[in-house]
Amino acid sequence: MKIWLDGALRDSETARVSVFDHGLTVGDGIFETVKAVDGRPFALTRHLDRLTRSARGLGLPDPDLDEVRRACAAVLEANPVPLGRLRLTYTGGHGPLGSDRGDQGPTLVVALGGTARRPDTTAVVTVPWTRNERGALTGLKTTSYAENVVALARAHEHGATEALFANTVGQLCEGTGSNVFVVLHGEIHTPPLASGCLAGITRALVAEWTGAKETDLPLDVLREADEIFLTSTLRDVQAVHRVDDRELSAAPGPVTAKAMRIFDERSAEDIDP
Ligand code: PLP
Repeated sequence: MKIWLDGALRDSETARVSVFDHGLTVGDGIFETVKAVDGRPFALTRHLDRLTRSARGLGLPDPDLDEVRRACAAVLEANPVPLGRLRLTYTGGHGPLGSDRGDQGPTLVVALGGTARRPDTTAVVTVPWTRNERGALTGLKTTSYAENVVALARAHEHGATEALFANTVGQLCEGTGSNVFVVLHGEIHTPPLASGCLAGITRALVAEWTGAKETDLPLDVLREADEIFLTSTLRDVQAVHRVDDRELSAAPGPVTAKAMRIFDERSAEDIDP
């Protein structure tokens, strides 16, 4: 596969990043996952805005967005697939051990993966660990994903594909790589950004297109919600058919099915931004 690294397309088998890259040594990196259909990136401008916000939040130099756009186009052209997800990784770059920052400029890698369409429904578990709604990294899409890896392992142990977190005050927050929506009395609700969740691009579009409300929700809402669904670049809109031991056997319910339909239809239009 051809990937983008250091300003050029390269073979993924031979492309190399420094062993002293701060993304590796201290997790000083950010990323985006961008859906691409028939070689066209979806909502790229929104993703690049978030990439820049994450870079600033982490104190990294602003990414060169012209280069990022060129990289995305080049990777998509070199690896033609009907459906894929571009993975943009941007780190502090090479720097001596113990230094605060890389000293040779940031590293940008653009690769392509995620060619599968996710199933319409899935199982989720809640985990006892919390998202910090007031941390230094809250809302930034950083490569420091170890906590999510641990939570996902818990989900897999229970035959689920996603783990949902509450925040430190017990409110529903988000999944390891998705945002969460619940349907209560026919209305769609999703936790506000103040809950500590990531400002998901899919979340924003689904909220806009369905009129979902941002609401503080206790984690326990998952026991009573009529319907639950997840949103992300990898999942689009995905209904939840089991949360912990609770079966939602009719998933996707009517409100979720409509949200899925609206998302599929509207996102087939070229969304950029
Ligand atoms: N929340 C987290 C922690 C994520 O990592 C992601 C995506 O990777 C999302 C939510 C969903 O965001 P998006 O819809 O932009 O893919």
